[in-house]
Amino acid sequence: MAYRNVVCTHYDLCIVGAGLIGSAAARHATLTAPHLKVCLIGPKEPKDRRQCKHGIFSAHYDEGRLVRLFGQDQIWAELTKRSIERYHEIEMRSGVKFFSEVGSLSVVTKNDEVKQQEIENAKAMNIPIQILDKNEVTEKFSFLSIQDDSEAVFQLKGSGHVSARLKIIAQQTAAQQQGCQVIDDVIDQVTETTQSDASKCLKVVTSKGKIIFAKKVLLATGAFTGFRDLLPPGKVLDTTLLTQTVVYAEISDKDAERLQDMPSGCLDYTKGELSGCYLLPPIKYPDGKYYLKVGHRKEYERELRTPEEVSDWYKTEGDKNAFKPLLDCLFQFVRGVTPVSTHGDCCVTTHTPTNHPYCDMITPLLGITVGGNGHAAKAADEIGRMGARMIIAGQWDHDLPKERFKAKFKPDKKVLVSRL
Ligand SMILES: Cc1cc2nc3c(=O)[nH]c(=O)nc-3n(C[C@H](O)[C@H](O)[C@H](O)COP(=O)(O)OP(=O)(O)OC[C@H]3O[C@@H](n4cnc5c(N)ncnc54)[C@H](O)[C@@H]3O)c2cc1C
Repeated sequence: MAYRNVVCTHYDLCIVGAGLIGSAAARHATLTAPHLKVCLIGPKEPKDRRQCKHGIFSAHYDEGRLVRLFGQDQIWAELTKRSIERYHEIEMRSGVKFFSEVGSLSVVTKNDEVKQQEIENAKAMNIPIQILDKNEVTEKFSFLSIQDDSEAVFQLKGSGHVSARLKIIAQQTAAQQQGCQVIDDVIDQVTETTQSDASKCLKVVTSKGKIIFAKKVLLATGAFTGFRDLLPPGKVLDTTLLTQTVVYAEISDKDAERLQDMPSGCLDYTKGELSGCYLLPPIKYPDGKYYLKVGHRKEYERELRTPEEVSDWYKTEGDKNAFKPLLDCLFQFVRGVTPVSTHGDCCVTTHTPTNHPYCDMITPLLGITVGGNGHAAKAADEIGRMGARMIIAGQWDHDLPKERFKAKFKPDKKVLVSRL
């Protein structure tokens, strides 16, 4: 079939979704198979989200994402460890520094069973950690204070925070240096088609009117995977999209200097209004100001189901009810700070029932890497590598067990109706 008045381009591999996982997959694809013609397609971060018409956003619009190995299951810990080990190399290749190795402090109620198990896991993985009581925390960090019945696990090496925005720039810069073409566009449709030589390929239609023919397509489209015609008809991924709210406290340059040794923090309590929060140390944002950031656990998460709900949520400042409890949690931990101003922001996380990302072939030509489960900012490089190797090989091509990453689908509504 001929297409008139449209630009048609051909690629060996088209990666859809220029977020943290897709950008990592693009870099790895160019390394794994330098001879392939690869493109990465996704919309850039909008200058003003409220004015964004296409309604496709990303989970990386921030400077501070927590990085730590302690406190995760073995699969996440492995994905994270391998990713962190490559941070320096990516920074060197791209010339973009995105990792601040300031350490992380995980505060838990004393004798909490789950955390004790995690401490054992950390020891088994040879992750160097220190256990600190209340006094030791304040001795080490004079501006931090934890509850009497708590203790803290401190990890310095390989932990701290990454700038999600800069990490994307670093990955895309390295991918482009190796020949990947990065395209600012939204994909409306992916369909299988037959070429004149009778071979199969995928036709990728963009919202700017381009048509791309690709031998293979990898979807790294996060929360938005089901909101365009990207998967074969009837296939709906089993994912849950949850709202996230964060609060930023602007602090003075003087306070930022006083807190300069502050690690990233995770506070998990077994009592109180909040079950905990996570927080980021002072980070200089593009407006030149320093902010502390705090986010919640499950308390303020709400499920979003439709494209409209997700798009509308991305245009808000988050759940305002969360602001005060989160700021209280932050300033009970970080002492002696009077914020200059505060404001909220929102985001969406994509969860799978397996709690691991999906990385799977959907058809012989179409693969997915979807489902950060709120952990993928730190681990995206290895998830992207896993996806890139899989789509290039057309089958599982990684040492971690394939079944842990197998995609699950929601029941086909048509099948359900016919069964009634
Ligand atoms: C508030 C918040 C705090 C977090 N904190 C941490 C943390 O401290 N540490 C941590 O490790 N993780 C954290 N995370 C999780 C982490 O940010 C996500 O897991 C990660 O960003 C997911 O990356 P992704 O590439 O899978 O998805 P996304 O970032 O959503 O990327 C998907 C991409 O696909 C693009 N896309 C979608 N549909 C289309 C289409 N039709 N056409 C073209 N492009 C499309 C989107 O534009 C987007 O760029 C946090 C998340 C949130 C929301």
